[in-house]
Amino acid sequence: MFDQSVTVLKGVGEETAKDLEQLGITTLEELLYHFPYRYENYQLKELADALHDEKLTVEGQVQSEPVLRYIRKNLSRLTFRLFVGEHLISVVAFNKPFLKKLLQLGDTVQITGKWDMHRATLTAVEVRKGGQEREHVVEPVYTLRGNLTMRQMRTFIKQALVMMKSQALGDPIPLSLRQAYKLPPRLDALEALHFPKDRISLKHARRRMIYEEFLIFQLKMQAYRAIERREIGGRAVKIDQDKVDRFIDALPFELTEAQSKVTKSILHDLKLPIRMNRLLQGDVGSGKTVVAAIALFAVVQGGLQGALMVPTEILAEQHAESLNQLFAPFDIQVGLLTSRVKGTARKHLLASLKNGELQILVGTHALIQDEVVFKDLGLVITDEQHRFGVEQRRLLRAKGEQSDVLYMTATPIPRTLAISAFGDMDISSITEMPAGRKPIETYWVKHKQMSQVLDMVLKELEKGRQAYVICPLIEESEALDVQNAIDLHAALQETFSKYQIGLMHGRLNAEEKDEVMEAFKNNEVQLLVSTTVVEVGVNVPNATLMIIYDADRFGLAQLHQLRGRVGRGDAQAYCVLVSDAKSEVSKERMRIMTETTNGFELSEQDLKLRGPGDYFGSKQSGLPDFKIADVVHDFKALEVAREDAASMINSDDFWTGEDYRMLRELLKSQGVFETERLD
Ligand code: ADP
Ligand code: MG
Repeated sequence: MFDQSVTVLKGVGEETAKDLEQLGITTLEELLYHFPYRYENYQLKELADALHDEKLTVEGQVQSEPVLRYIRKNLSRLTFRLFVGEHLISVVAFNKPFLKKLLQLGDTVQITGKWDMHRATLTAVEVRKGGQEREHVVEPVYTLRGNLTMRQMRTFIKQALVMMKSQALGDPIPLSLRQAYKLPPRLDALEALHFPKDRISLKHARRRMIYEEFLIFQLKMQAYRAIERREIGGRAVKIDQDKVDRFIDALPFELTEAQSKVTKSILHDLKLPIRMNRLLQGDVGSGKTVVAAIALFAVVQGGLQGALMVPTEILAEQHAESLNQLFAPFDIQVGLLTSRVKGTARKHLLASLKNGELQILVGTHALIQDEVVFKDLGLVITDEQHRFGVEQRRLLRAKGEQSDVLYMTATPIPRTLAISAFGDMDISSITEMPAGRKPIETYWVKHKQMSQVLDMVLKELEKGRQAYVICPLIEESEALDVQNAIDLHAALQETFSKYQIGLMHGRLNAEEKDEVMEAFKNNEVQLLVSTTVVEVGVNVPNATLMIIYDADRFGLAQLHQLRGRVGRGDAQAYCVLVSDAKSEVSKERMRIMTETTNGFELSEQDLKLRGPGDYFGSKQSGLPDFKIADVVHDFKALEVAREDAASMINSDDFWTGEDYRMLRELLKSQGVFETERLD
């Protein structure tokens, strides 16, 4: 019933079905799980109670003949006066020229729009003639595609709800759990989510769907894992501990305690006949690469090959270089594969990889191409794991037989959250920096203090140092971001005419970006102006200053990442946050940034703040994306779901009981009980 095609609905023909498909909707179930991203409130509002800039709906009488003006060819502005209760207000409507003919003096109209209290003006989004009653005063607003209209979407969903009501839809969440948490049944929740009657029922509906989403997610991860442990296994790498110890002793420094501990768990995993699936998190510069090197060394000593995949060519080159240095005394070969390696060099490389002469391969996603064949790949490592898609990671892993896998990330997240969000991985964290590092001094300044900041820039440049300037972020428009960077670049070039100023933004192609980055790396460019669209994930130890404009527009994670670009060398490094932050949350963020440089601490703090645009954008941290749930905001529910899933998986009831039949079927339909896993 639930899996019927949307074409059973009235009004859904071939074209509409295609538009719906663009939204990932082909069945009634998918339609009902297409949740509104917000609601439109058509509840009539008394103007006396309205706030400035509030979006509201009023009813009134047209008091003046509408005046229509064309500002540009495709931009019209219509204005008239409206009597609302005892208030006389102005109404402005853009690009609704048809209203000129439609509206007559004295007509009753309902207008939804944004209220400018100071000008007594309502900017209309929607104008409806007459004082018609609405079925719902709160209407859902959906993401649309193609020619779909909001009205259509609403009626489709209404129809689907009615159809479901006439059937016994059932509920995948067993009654006992629903009772324990006071969760509404599925159909009630779905109905309330689309057409909420009041705040309370909406809240409970959300609670229910969030729990459902998390529970299924947790069950999937844990079931995969249980099945994998039981049926797939992995291979045991023969590790020569003496040799590994000698390698560690030969390093130019002592491992930190955190590094030693993490190394131990990784070697332990490798030795077991279980496939390692481990996430290694640690701040930039905490020494993850060295740990990766030890693991690669151990695997190579065990007669297997290793691969390290990184997101950019420059990073690949850097990693290959530093690994080669570490491995040179041990007669281990490290190859580098990027799109720049061509012709015979490439042929040679691939041949020696296939016959096993080449023990370690570092590269970009070039590594997953078909032509790349290993003799016997034992360990796969991906750096900045969230930068790769699931499919890319799977393809790399598939180049070996039951290869062990290590993911690395420089966006540390609190352990509790990591365990819940990445339940199918073991998690290791490097929580301390090597001794002797000078923490980056961080300052928060206002825009009006810019001249002092420029003095600081000059001082660093005169010392022979380099600096980054990150441009203001304009969220809506990449074009504006780029323009900003170009303008700033020109202005700075004038101020610092003695120095070379580089420019980096998202409109440059990969080659141009690399060129700019090379120039900065070689100190041919001293000051680099960049938008954040561009990853500056490169090691330039001579760079000691990071300036971030409009720092309050960035989440803590991004600020932390950006700051991590400096302080790679021995010299004292600085980070300046330029921001006129107004809101309490923004101010708090700026303050936290000036007080700690520890990524784990930052993420803990951020978890507490939970403001908008936070640390844990899923793109940055690799946290899974959910439809309705938010891993950070709904963290408590995630933990509850994790525990519930664990006890279910461990109970016989779950595998055979009637109460869990729907859940089992649901998981089965998603391929969970097949042996091919995903991650
Ligand atoms: P990450 O990969 O976590 O960003 P790296 O492994 O590149 O960090 O380490 C950053 C720098 O610190 C490198 O130059 C590395 O040689 C050095 N390093 C790593 N571990 C230690 C340590 N225990 N003591 C001193 N320096 C270290
Ligand atoms: Mg193993």
